[in-house]
Amino acid sequence: MNPAPLTNSKRINERCGMNFLNIAIVSSEIVPFAKTGGLADVIGSLPAELSGLKCNVKVFMPYYRAAKKENFGISLAKNNLNVCMQGKDFGFSLYQCKSKGVDFYFIKKDEYFDREFLYGTPQGDYPDNAQRFGFFANAVLESLTFLKFKADVINCNDWQSALIPFYVRFKLKDSALFKKTKTLFTVHNLAYQGLFPREIMPTLDIGYEFFTPEALEFYGKFSFMKAGIIYSDAVSTVSSGYAKEILTKEFGCGLEGLLYTKKDSLFGILNGVDYSQWSPGADKFIVSNYDVKALKNKAECKKDLLVQMGLPVSPERCLLGQVGRLAHQKGMDLIVDSIEDIIKLSCNLVVLGAGDEQYHRVLTALSKKYPKNISVKIGFDNALAHKIEAGSDMFLMPSRYEPCGLNQMYSLKYGTIPLVRATGGLDDTITDYTRDPARGNGFKFKEATKEGFLGALKSAVCVYSDKNHWKKLMARAMGFDFSWKRSAQEYIKLYTALIKK
Ligand code: ADP
Repeated sequence: MNPAPLTNSKRINERCGMNFLNIAIVSSEIVPFAKTGGLADVIGSLPAELSGLKCNVKVFMPYYRAAKKENFGISLAKNNLNVCMQGKDFGFSLYQCKSKGVDFYFIKKDEYFDREFLYGTPQGDYPDNAQRFGFFANAVLESLTFLKFKADVINCNDWQSALIPFYVRFKLKDSALFKKTKTLFTVHNLAYQGLFPREIMPTLDIGYEFFTPEALEFYGKFSFMKAGIIYSDAVSTVSSGYAKEILTKEFGCGLEGLLYTKKDSLFGILNGVDYSQWSPGADKFIVSNYDVKALKNKAECKKDLLVQMGLPVSPERCLLGQVGRLAHQKGMDLIVDSIEDIIKLSCNLVVLGAGDEQYHRVLTALSKKYPKNISVKIGFDNALAHKIEAGSDMFLMPSRYEPCGLNQMYSLKYGTIPLVRATGGLDDTITDYTRDPARGNGFKFKEATKEGFLGALKSAVCVYSDKNHWKKLMARAMGFDFSWKRSAQEYIKLYTALIKK
């Protein structure tokens, strides 16, 4: 096998005596190509930071219809590639583009990925998701082989790429290219595990001998997530709080015992924020850019948002914003159950989200019942998400669990004070202003109850009513810096430790 071709920057760095790391990152969604949630934001930013820090990075994702719709400068890298599973050939093409110094590769197999949605319709998951992402894992490894890319580390993300550590360990154990490759499996949300009937295993080239509780069985189902946890060289998750929480019964989703056995190679690295996308001074979606010295422009953003959402333009009334998946995880029921109290506290509410149909129905009904106070947009709308960050006074994240959470960090930068539940990354990034006025940057509550949520909201509204007080809090919040640099350095430390292992 030929060694990986050296890029110019790699040659320069090697001449200077620096070690360059070859990192492959695999993700089922990436900004700006396709996004349903935070994973896409993370893999849209981390690779560029890594490539500025002595890493040669190649990133892989499926070539979805969403990525084909816009002109990202994606072009064909290689036709007629093939993976073989259960003796059957699965042809595919490899596409690529370069962005911010990073090579992005797209696995093109239209029968699997040229669909309206990434994982399923609003009615449910696509029934062939196991085949789609089992194929994807194999196709990524085949592409690395074609590219002769000797990855020091393959960093897989969530269940969709979780079979890669298994294949590297077993299917490719005799491949010279992968002989020294280490795998890191990053969990962005432990609750989505990729569970399928055991009969799927042969089609993925995985023998039934692995269908045991010690291996890939999870209570009678075949688990993609377990493959990532067991066969990777290390597991990471997206905040140190969540890394601790997933070792407990409450947050471990049934995998806490297994994770505990790997606790010495389990790490928490907080996600960063791409401030070129998410800061009020540079945001191209908002009506008026602002910073801490020009807060009156934030008032323009509030007006614009109220008009767009069809609410009365009442600048004094506290506006609460919420953007996210409408799911039990996100504590949407706490918001829904508190609507009358929210209005009594002189607050209005804007919600943007998609998810469980029951929340679509309930929220739509509430917006009809209280048209002057509540406005809801069901769907995915990136521009509106930015407008809500800029135009709201507070951002609600009463999540039951939150591996990292990005919106609370975005909100800080926009001077939109986050009100969060003390869990996972929310707990790590937000300090409660009521308890710690000297350092507080938001409001936080512990119990996932209506009383807990409303208690924090009452405290927040009380501070909001004192304009100077609130302004000071906004200024402090806007000064927080969660940029990627620090997190990327932690990833490099971890990659380096794995390589030395
Ligand atoms: P998740 O658990 O969904 O990954 P995060 O807070 O980590 O939650 O990230 C969610 C990301 O997705 C944020 O960038 C948020 O703005 C975005 N997002 C979520 N739902 C929507 C939506 N309906 N429209 C636009 N953006 C959305």
